[in-house]
Amino acid sequence: MYNHNRLRFNHSNNRPSRPFNGNRFGQRGQRKSQLENADINMFIRQAVQTETENPQTGIQSFNVFNLHEALKQNISSLGYLKPTPIQSQAINPILEGRDVIGLASTGTGKTAAFLIPLIHKIYLNRNQKALIIVPTRELAAQINEEFRNLSRNMKLFSAFIIGGTNMHRQIQDLRRNPHMVIATPGRLKDLINRRAIYLEDYSHIVLDEVDLMVDIGFIRDVKLFISLMPKIRQSLFFSATISSRIQDVLRSFVTNPVTISIKKQDTSENVTQDVIRVSSSEAKIGKLHDLLIKDGFDKVLIFGRTKHGIEKLNKELEFRGFKVGAIHGNKRQNQRQRILQSFKQNEIQILLATDVASRGIDIDNVTHVINYDLPQTYEDYIHRIGRTGRAGKMGFALTFVN
Ligand code: AMP
Repeated sequence: MYNHNRLRFNHSNNRPSRPFNGNRFGQRGQRKSQLENADINMFIRQAVQTETENPQTGIQSFNVFNLHEALKQNISSLGYLKPTPIQSQAINPILEGRDVIGLASTGTGKTAAFLIPLIHKIYLNRNQKALIIVPTRELAAQINEEFRNLSRNMKLFSAFIIGGTNMHRQIQDLRRNPHMVIATPGRLKDLINRRAIYLEDYSHIVLDEVDLMVDIGFIRDVKLFISLMPKIRQSLFFSATISSRIQDVLRSFVTNPVTISIKKQDTSENVTQDVIRVSSSEAKIGKLHDLLIKDGFDKVLIFGRTKHGIEKLNKELEFRGFKVGAIHGNKRQNQRQRILQSFKQNEIQILLATDVASRGIDIDNVTHVINYDLPQTYEDYIHRIGRTGRAGKMGFALTFVN
C-alpha cells in the first residue's frame, strides 16, 4: 500500500509556496477541447456493477482450431483457456487465407486473433513473411512481446522496427530475414527509403489500430505502404471505428474480406464519475495533491492535454514527494517502456499521460483516472475512463472543471 502519511506534511503551508501556473498547461496553438463549455453533468455518474467485457461465444476451447501442437502449448502457457469472441471469429478465416476486417479495440484479444493464425501459417511454410504496422511504439512492443510468447520454441523470429531506437541494429535484424516484422510508420518509411526493407516480400500484412494511425496523421504513409505491397497478399485490417477517411484506405487494402465486429461493452458502466471544481488554475495542483494522498488512490492514471503540461506536472508531483512517471511523445522509447513497466508493477503510484501516448496500452487494476485537463472529445473521455473499472472491478474517474 502506498504510504500516504509520508506525504501529508509536504502539502499545506510548511513549504514556501511555489507558483504553479496551471494556465500554461495548455500550449499555444493546441486545439481547444470541444468539451470546454459542455454540461458538466456528463462527467458525473454513479457506477453500476456489470459483468466482464466479453459476451459468451460458441467456441469454448482452442482445440477446435487446427493449430500446431507447439502453438497450442504456447497459448495454454499464456493462460488463455478459451478464445475471446474476436479470436473465435477471426482465426479460421485467417487460416483459410481470407482478408479480414476486424472492428475491435484493444482489450478484446485482437492481437492474438491475428498472431495465432499467422504464426501457424508461417511455421508450416517458412518462406512466408508477415508485416504488422501499428501506430505507436507501445503497441508495437506489446505485439512483439505477444509474438515472442506465442512462438516460443518454434524457431520463428521477429524484427522490431520503431522510432527512437538504434536504426543500424534494426537494419541488421532485417538482414537476418525475420519471419515477422512489427513496425511503426515513421521508421518503416525511413527503412524503405534506405532500401533495408522491401514490402513486396511480405505475403501477409496487418494494419492495426488504423483509426489511431489516421488520427495521428499517418494516412499518407499508410497509402504509400499499400502501394508498395505485393498485389497478391493476405490483408488483415483492425480498427475500432471506420470513418470515411478510413474507408478510403480499406478499399485499396482488402479484397473480398470477412468483416468481424466486436463491440466491447461500455466499460464506463463500472466507473463512478465525478467532477472536481477548481476556482483558479493555481488551486488545481493543491486539489490534486489532496486527492492523491487519500486512501485508495493506489494506482492513478492522470491525463493531460500536452507534453509540456504533463512534464511540468510530473516535476511538480515529484517535488511534492509522489512516486510518479510520465509518458508522452517526447520521451525516448526505452524510457516510456520503463515507466509503463514500473506503473504496471506498482513501483510508481501515478502515471501521467497524453491521450496519444496512452492509446492502446493495457494496464490492470487502475483505481482512478483523473482528467487533469479536459479531453478533446467525449469519445476520448470514454476512452480515458475505460482504463479503470475493468474486468468487473469498480473504478473512479474524476474530471477537473473550472
Ligand atoms: P489485446 O486486445 O490484443 O490488446 O489483448 C488484451 C489482453 O487480453 C492481453 O493482455 C492479452 O494477453 C489477453 N488475452 C488475449 N487473448 C486471450 C484469451 N483467449 N484468454 C485470456 N486472455 C487473453
